[in-house]
Parts: sequence; structure tokens; C-alpha cells
Amino acid sequence: MPPAQPSAPEYLFDDVPAPGELREIADGVQWLRMPLPMALDHINLYLLEDDDGWWIIDTGIAIGPTQALWEQIFATQLGDKPVKAVLSTHYHPDHVGMAGWLCERWQVPFYMTQAEYLSGLAFSRMQAEDFSWSSALHLQQAGYSPQQVEQARKRFSGFGNYIKPMPTAYRRLVDGTRLTIKGRRWRVVIGSGHCPEHACLYNEALNILISGDQVIPKITSNVSVMGGEPEANPLREWLASHEHFLDILPADALVLPAHNAPFHGLHARLRHLIEHHEEHLLALEEACVDTAPTAVELLPVLFKRELDDSQVGLALGECIAHLNYLHQRGQLARELNGQGQYTYRSVDDTLHLRLRRHRSELEDQPILQV
Ligand SMILES: [Zn+2]
Repeated sequence: MPPAQPSAPEYLFDDVPAPGELREIADGVQWLRMPLPMALDHINLYLLEDDDGWWIIDTGIAIGPTQALWEQIFATQLGDKPVKAVLSTHYHPDHVGMAGWLCERWQVPFYMTQAEYLSGLAFSRMQAEDFSWSSALHLQQAGYSPQQVEQARKRFSGFGNYIKPMPTAYRRLVDGTRLTIKGRRWRVVIGSGHCPEHACLYNEALNILISGDQVIPKITSNVSVMGGEPEANPLREWLASHEHFLDILPADALVLPAHNAPFHGLHARLRHLIEHHEEHLLALEEACVDTAPTAVELLPVLFKRELDDSQVGLALGECIAHLNYLHQRGQLARELNGQGQYTYRSVDDTLHLRLRRHRSELEDQPILQV
């Protein structure tokens, strides 16, 4: 019988590496942290040692002390080996922010999937004036008042400050790409939902998964619908990716995530995330039985805490991701009201929902292992 897997994440270490220091995870695999200027105050990056140099996996954000910390690491931590390649798991600023600078500094190739590279190019060039009529319409349909839309327009400043100019060329990663580093093969495994084509790296010999933001032990990655693609269904992709990872990756893999800390318990975490979103979907359906609310009015169903200005945009994006999922599956009807806002109504009746809730609670009962 295989050993029992933990039902909650079990962390490899009790502490985290100090800024500018490396922590060895396995032979040739080093963990480091870079600060982030937000509530989520850090990102985990990884260095893979090859025979003739180092691979950098994710890069940190392009503001604050990141660049100075990189120089400190280069001066003190890499032995006599240069950096030989840079890889970003996806296009968000904490992951790709310093990629252009690093590739320029070392004149080395940059690895990324195509959808992430192109998204990064576009995203990093966005300016305040790119808040367009379609962005405004999206927020209006979500339930914003005209004044709230204007406030959102004023707050939007683009993302160029957080990302150095992107590398001018890249080497394309696809699902199944194999990278040989120090004689060991790292296989690219693609996930989707948090971003279009997120690369994870799995090494079978070490049984290690570098998971980026696709699997994080404590916080849940944002899965959002934004004005650029208002009919997107990223939650469907997110849930399908988790099912796929359950199929193809071993339960006992050591997971190296981009936030929180390295942990064991991959399958339990994936199952927990699937259940978390299923609970949210059911709660939204229930909230649309007797009334027909807008996305903005549904925010308290998903988020019990008070949301500040910096969080409400992502929270609303996440709420619409759940509503698009239900609408496109035919479980919620969607209509425009007199103010041009979408309202949602459950097509199922309360009794059905209660029965389904009851069933899912039964399935939640822990099964005793004998
Ligand atoms: Zn991240």
C-alpha cells in the first residue's frame, strides 16, 4: 500500500531564506525569495544548476530592491558559474518583471510559452490611456455606477513600471518540452486559468514540481475575467487543469510554489482547490434563486472580508469568472437591466440546490484509512 499522503500541506522548512540568500532544496535546486510591495509581500524564485551555468526560474518584480538583490546573489552565491538561461512561468509582473534586464545583463536566452510571452509584451506596454470604452462597458455591465467607472479609469495607470522591457526574443516552451539540466530532465507541464499558458516544470528523478502560481499551498491564485476578454471562461480551464494535474503528477511530489513555501501534499491541495471553487459556484447559484443580482452585488457571497480599492478589481474579476462559468453551462440566466447591468438568475430551483449541497457535504466526510 502506498504511504498515506498528508491532507493538509506539509512544509519542508520551518523558516524561509533571508533576502539575497539561497536555500538548497535538492542537489542542484536552490530556493530564494524576492520582496513584493503589496499585501502578498514575497515571491519564491528557483535556481537550477547546470554543468556550465545557472538557470533562473521566475525573476521578481521590476521595482524596489530586486535588482540590487540579484547583483548581491551574482557576486556571492553562484560560485564561478555564470547565468545561462532565464525562464518565466507566466507573464505577471512578479514573475517576468526582471526577465528583460536579466537576459540583457547576461546575454542569455529567455524561455516562455507563446501565449505568456505575447501577453507579457502587450501587458508591459499598457498605459493609462489603454483604459478604453470596452473596459468601461465591462465594469458597467458588472454593476458599477458611472461614478465608480470614472474612479476606476483614474486609478488605472498601466503596468509598465512593474516590468522591465521584455526580452526581445524567446525560446518557446510547449506542454511536454524537456529541458536537460545537469543531466536531468525537467518536463514542461502546462496549466491554465490564472493566466493563459502557465508553465510548470516537473523532474521525475527528483520528484519535484516547480509550480509557479498554478499550485500554491495557502493562498488561492486569482482567476479573473477582465475587460480585455469579457466572455472568457478561465474557471473552466482552471478546474480542468487541476483535474489534469491530479491525473499526471504523483501525489508525493515535492511542490516548489511561487508563493508561500515548498510543501508536500499536491493531490490534497488540488482537491481542496476544486472543492473551494465548487462551494463558491453553489453559493452563487443559491444567491440567484429569489433575486436577480449583479456581479457587484454578489461580491459578499464570495468575499466575507471588507475589500479595499486595490482588491475590489481582482475580486470582481474572480466573481465574474464564476458567473461566466455558470452562465456558459446553462445554470445561470443572464439579462441586461435598465442601467445596462447584467443580472443573474438561477435556472435551478432551491430544492435542487439544497439536495446538491447535501450531497456535497456527505462527500466531504473524511474516509478512514484502514
Ligand atoms: Zn505570482
